[in-house]
Amino acid sequence: MKRIAVYPGSFDPITNGHMDIIKRACPLFDKIYVVVSKNFEKQPLFSVEERVALVKACLKEANIENVEVESFSGFIYEYAKSKNATTIIRGLRTTNDFVKEYSLFTYNYGLSNKTIDTIFLCAELENIFTSSSTVKEVVSFNGDTSPYVPKIVDEAIKNKKAK
Ligand code: ADP
Repeated sequence: MKRIAVYPGSFDPITNGHMDIIKRACPLFDKIYVVVSKNFEKQPLFSVEERVALVKACLKEANIENVEVESFSGFIYEYAKSKNATTIIRGLRTTNDFVKEYSLFTYNYGLSNKTIDTIFLCAELENIFTSSSTVKEVVSFNGDTSPYVPKIVDEAIKNKKAK
């Protein structure tokens, strides 16, 4: 039986922290679906299509092959079931993440009749304060995002600002 997992998030934009989680999850599964959520944020930095394209470009650049990227809106456990996945991957940075993540786990585990479990990978120390929202804050102040995101994403941010 293939080990299939989903890694959901907003990925607006994908950061070094997300990339680290994906790289470390790869050897644990035969296939991973990165799922870009179609959230209803008032001011997204990138459209859902742009985010999907950026994640794909980052994976290609990192030579990661067993990962697919799709967008989705709805319950992630339902998406997981549709892909025959049994595991949701999430990253944990601080205790703040833990509280939020525990709640998400209980919903996904309970609503899926205990068929979809969640595993947590702890953020590497260097990524612990990196988040898509802080990257967006740096962008809003015209700051340098290069320490926090893959080069492709940094370039996409610069192109967007130049428009
Ligand atoms: P963010 O929390 O950055 O706004 P997402 O909602 O896309 O981003 O997060 C998707 C998942 O990735 C969550 O489980 C989140 O905890 C995890 N994650 C986000 N940033 C990092 C990071 N720097 N290191 C490890 N995991 C992270």
